[in-house]
Amino acid sequence: MSTEMPKCYQIATMPPTAASSSTPPASQSSALPPSHNATESTSDVPDCSSSEQPASDESKVVPSRKPLLRLELRDLSSSGSRAFLRLVHASAALEDAVDAVLKLLYKNMRPSCIPPTRSVTLVLRDMDGVAYTTGLDLDDDHKEIHLSTKYIEFVPESRQKEEILGVLVHEMVHCWQHSGFGSAPVGLTEGIADFVRLKAGYAPPHWKRHTDCDWDAGYERTGYFLDWLEKDHGADIVRKINEALRECQYDAHKLWHDCCGKGIEKLWEDYRKSVEDECDKSESSSEDITDQKGQEDVPAQEKDQPAPPEDHRTPREKARRGGNMHVPVRPGTSS
Ligand SMILES: [Zn+2]
Repeated sequence: MSTEMPKCYQIATMPPTAASSSTPPASQSSALPPSHNATESTSDVPDCSSSEQPASDESKVVPSRKPLLRLELRDLSSSGSRAFLRLVHASAALEDAVDAVLKLLYKNMRPSCIPPTRSVTLVLRDMDGVAYTTGLDLDDDHKEIHLSTKYIEFVPESRQKEEILGVLVHEMVHCWQHSGFGSAPVGLTEGIADFVRLKAGYAPPHWKRHTDCDWDAGYERTGYFLDWLEKDHGADIVRKINEALRECQYDAHKLWHDCCGKGIEKLWEDYRKSVEDECDKSESSSEDITDQKGQEDVPAQEKDQPAPPEDHRTPREKARRGGNMHVPVRPGTSS
């Protein structure tokens, strides 16, 4: 691990985020690929503190080089491929995913901070698991996102489109994020991927905040923690973390103190308290409502609402509707 003072920790001060990014990306019909109408970098030196102009306008971050986006369908006859083609406009979906990722990781940063990803190929094929991202052996700037057609079939029909788009955003993060040359905890890089998915508006209904784990448990567990960090410590925390991993190895003490002013253990402890306090508050407000109406034996959420029809579905059937659906672990490397 390098002991030199890495310049990537000298994070440029960024103006606060202009607009909330919690809304889903623009509809597919209005999606456009990254265009050439923004300022382009003329420098090959990856230095975000240079006098380059920021990469973005208010709505879009444009990389120095527009990536080639490709689609490869290995089996057109599979029902997963058929569902994909029926539900998703592939070029718009990939372009939207690139836009969402670049906006959330590189807004107000210089184009030279963005990895030189030259192409992203979405490969739909029959495989176990959900999806993974890999670089080509010959040139890591060419990425492949492999998405399982079997998994698409597994997702309830009413959720298929949102799930495909959400997984695409998650995997697209891996095509553009920094990882301290692979030294960052996998839980952190996976957490950033799900943080971006969350902020892009594609959090599945079964996601929830967990505190019964470590901060680097990954995926939505770490993603929600990062979301809380942005609300509590500044809207550009995740961009700072990503930038800190651009040119140097992961250094836990330095990274978290530089980005948030505290160590990771203290931050995770604060997050757990915050989530637990929130739960206590919502529980006590539920009790208040119950006390006011003097009907302690009736669950608060049923007040003022007609009783829901009796649910005769089995737990498995409920899960298939998007309840506590188990998502298989993503296979292989996904960085
Ligand atoms: Zn991942």
